[in-house]
Amino acid sequence: MDITNLDYKLFEHGFVRLDGAMASDLSVVNSARVSFDKYQYTMDENGSYLIKFLMKHRHGTPFEHNSFRFHVSAPIFVVREWQRHRIGSFNEMSGRYVELQPNFYIPDLPSVRKQEGRPGAYQFTRMPREIAGFIQEKMRNHYEAAFDSYLELLAAGVAKELARLVLPLATFTTMFWTVNARSLMNFLSLRNSPEAMYEIRQYAKYCEIIFRALMPITWRSFMDNGRVAP
Ligand SMILES: Cc1cc2nc3c(=O)[nH]c(=O)nc-3n(C[C@H](O)[C@H](O)[C@H](O)COP(=O)(O)OP(=O)(O)OC[C@H]3O[C@@H](n4cnc5c(N)ncnc54)[C@H](O)[C@@H]3O)c2cc1C
Repeated sequence: MDITNLDYKLFEHGFVRLDGAMASDLSVVNSARVSFDKYQYTMDENGSYLIKFLMKHRHGTPFEHNSFRFHVSAPIFVVREWQRHRIGSFNEMSGRYVELQPNFYIPDLPSVRKQEGRPGAYQFTRMPREIAGFIQEKMRNHYEAAFDSYLELLAAGVAKELARLVLPLATFTTMFWTVNARSLMNFLSLRNSPEAMYEIRQYAKYCEIIFRALMPITWRSFMDNGRVAP
């Protein structure tokens, strides 16, 4: 698998790219077969059945002997949801050490939405185009004013770690996320889902494309199992 092509841009300043991986369907098969002191060098039909069996019966640990290292640029509000997923490792750019850039998320017109209904059953619907345009403008103006304040505080000698407090959650940040397939499936099941927030769903969608490319039989079994992580 050529992982250099697994590089996706999204929104104005964001990306998801696979920085490295140690992942294959065969590793799942061998992690399970070690129970019988067996090892195989290539995937075969029996291996595919075994993966399906493990997924269906929720024998989850054989799906842990692999890793995906994602390099991500996303707005802080997306990363905040992402980092709730505890089974995985994160390292993130530090606003204590680097001067942040005026890179902010502005939803495109169709993504400016309103929220109706009750908690647990919200409907998100598009706002009329002219109102959506006005909201984009409001956000842009607010971000620019916030960034001006940030620069003023830095110019006054305030430490970066304090000056950043005036910046919005829409500010882009960068991180690495290393995760195994079992935890990744849990993330995909929750975040590449219509219930998840639109913006994190876009990132999860690309993580899933990458997962599918590297572990196609595991991905197929995950789908057949109703997208329930084992
Ligand atoms: C649509 C949506 C809405 C949400 N709304 C809110 C909200 O309003 N407020 C809020 O605080 N969070 C919210 N969350 C976050 C959610 O509660 C989880 O923190 C997040 O989805 C991570 O899921 P997880 O715990 O399964 O993942 P991980 O932390 O990666 O854990 C993976 C699995 O490991 C096991 N595990 C991990 N840690 C423990 C533990 N301490 N004890 C036992 N088992 C463990 C569990 O089986 C878990 O499913 C929301 C998430 C979604 C998808």
